[in-house]
Amino acid sequence: MKFAHKFVELMPPVIEDGVLYVSIEFATAVHNCACGCGSKVVTPLSPTDWKLAFDGETISLWPSIGNWSFECQSHYWITNDEVQFSKKWSKNKIKTGRKNEKTVKDKYYKRKRKG
Ligand SMILES: [Zn+2]
Repeated sequence: MKFAHKFVELMPPVIEDGVLYVSIEFATAVHNCACGCGSKVVTPLSPTDWKLAFDGETISLWPSIGNWSFECQSHYWITNDEVQFSKKWSKNKIKTGRKNEKTVKDKYYKRKRKG
């Protein structure tokens, strides 16, 4: 599956399937879950969230997108506009992943506060 990408200032009220919307203004990317379940996936872009690369033609997002809070629990990468589905994570792995994410954030903001 391939995504088309659209640079926007504001996210449109209706997110089309198969389109990755990117707002540099608000440092956010939005798309509908690649599995087709229709859930809206919001990926904030920040030093501790997602990073986006635009090579002039295609977009890549990393790390991978894990929709653990959706029923589909889909997990995939978007690389050069292309979706590569990855393994679903076990409950334990999700828990560990969330913990790691929090540690990274805590560290980052602590460092930032210190300046
Ligand atoms: Zn889904």
